[in-house]
Amino acid sequence: MSFTAVIVGRPNVGKSTLFNRLVGRRTALVDDRPGVTRDRREGEAQLGDLAFTVVDTAGFEEAPAGSLSARMREQTEQAIRDAGLVLFLVDARSGVTPLDRQFADLVRRTGKPTILVANKSEGRAGEAGALEAYELGLGEPVLISAEHGAGTSDLYAAIVEAVGEAETGNDTETLTDEKPIKVAVVGRPNAGKSTLINQLLGEERLLTGPEPGITRDSISVPYRSHEHAFELYDTAGLRRRSRIEDKLEKLSVAETLRAIRFAEVVVLLVDAERPFEEQDLRIADLVVREGRALVVAVNKSDLVPRRAGALTKLRDEVDHWLPQVRGVPVVMISGLRGEGLDRLMQAVLQSHAVWNRRVPTAALNKWLSAVTSEHPPPAVSGRRIKLNYITQPKARPPTFVLFTSRADAVPEDYRRYLVNALRDAFDLPGTPIRLTLREKENPFDRKKP
Ligand code: GDP
Repeated sequence: MSFTAVIVGRPNVGKSTLFNRLVGRRTALVDDRPGVTRDRREGEAQLGDLAFTVVDTAGFEEAPAGSLSARMREQTEQAIRDAGLVLFLVDARSGVTPLDRQFADLVRRTGKPTILVANKSEGRAGEAGALEAYELGLGEPVLISAEHGAGTSDLYAAIVEAVGEAETGNDTETLTDEKPIKVAVVGRPNAGKSTLINQLLGEERLLTGPEPGITRDSISVPYRSHEHAFELYDTAGLRRRSRIEDKLEKLSVAETLRAIRFAEVVVLLVDAERPFEEQDLRIADLVVREGRALVVAVNKSDLVPRRAGALTKLRDEVDHWLPQVRGVPVVMISGLRGEGLDRLMQAVLQSHAVWNRRVPTAALNKWLSAVTSEHPPPAVSGRRIKLNYITQPKARPPTFVLFTSRADAVPEDYRRYLVNALRDAFDLPGTPIRLTLREKENPFDRKKP
């Protein structure tokens, strides 16, 4: 198997050191390949039995600016585009800086398989910084010390896993072919679903669109945006044949539910002139209950006179109507005019990233002890409920299990408080969060029988 990994990160995190560590003596081969620009070093990396091409982006660094320069961004994006795997490097000693976040956003947006690597992680100072790196939303950091050669076996395991996942398709060169994100567009009749999808896919697609006779479930169409592959579930396309009946059409709950179940991210399209009617909210509720990532798109913005003010008001309204997914992205679009579609796809990507987020157990338990001392659970018949231990067994959507002394006694409002606190602490806006309470001993508390 052969693939290319690119080392990305802000200046001084140790990109070149890692590059040299991976390439070893073979650095001599670097730079004389055709097509390699001067500021982009490439070499053949060897890690255990893994051989791959590695690209160092350290040369992109210019002035030590506090923000990502346009040129650096452009070059980094290009390097990521050309690679199959990103090794995103942070400095565990200095913790997460704003520039790290900018780079992380850039990396996340490309949708490339990414391994978060916390370098310089030797010693205690390193561990704390590595914990912080979770907040970047790029998964669990692999702790290494490029300088001392520590952590390479963890890095090896992470790469094997990433490469393996990317290769579960049938093409062996698919490390560059990320999995498409499944998106469904749902909404009331006449919200503008067909118009939006046709606008996204272009008129040509409309002509060559799905033929009648294909099974309902298989109707999804590929779409690319923001360097990412999407699969759009085209419920609207199903109805093109019966356009005349459209105006009389009722909301088909069964069809909507099928679309929601197909999707990872659901775009709920509402009509700007009549947003958040009961049906809209019912659909939103279905999306949340099915545990999908939600994006609210307020369509027909061309009919709204003062858009900026209207958007703020709509955001508040969404949070009011959908408190269970506070912070859900709201974008204003005009499907008809093709406005706001870029922002829409951006929101889909972001929502998908949050939905996939994993919070490490150590950070969760640190949070739990802080939260419970700040706002302890109530006492039930004179005895305080103990919250022992919390963990996140899965993402998509983020799902947490909290072990407590009295699962049935924890009141609903305290549970809601915990969910909201989790949302804030771990940057999980707008995504359904599942929290299950279990009665079980703390696995780390040996004193208990
Ligand atoms: P669907 O039932 O959700 O698929 O809705 P359609 O796409 O069929 O659109 C319903 C009506 O709304 C049509 O008359 C569209 O032309 C109109 N429409 C859709 N999007 C927009 C928009 O962004 N602005 C305006 N002004 N009208 C729109």
